[in-house]
Amino acid sequence: MALPSTPDQWSIVTRTGLLRPTLGGREGEEVTTTYAVCPHCQERQDFSGKPDMLKCLRCKKESKVDWSETC
Ligand SMILES: [Zn+2]
Repeated sequence: MALPSTPDQWSIVTRTGLLRPTLGGREGEEVTTTYAVCPHCQERQDFSGKPDMLKCLRCKKESKVDWSETC
């Protein structure tokens, strides 16, 4: 059981984008949004720090976090 990518781990997604003035920020300001995606129900969930495990608030399943391939 040493597959490089197991489907039962949270995926970490990092998005970098420019704030639009309509969102309340200054024009051209960069924001980084990071969230984890539940492997069971694809729910997006915020987290803080760098947890090894996360528990999904939606499906209540606790899974490891895959830090090997953030995108
Ligand atoms: Zn879930």
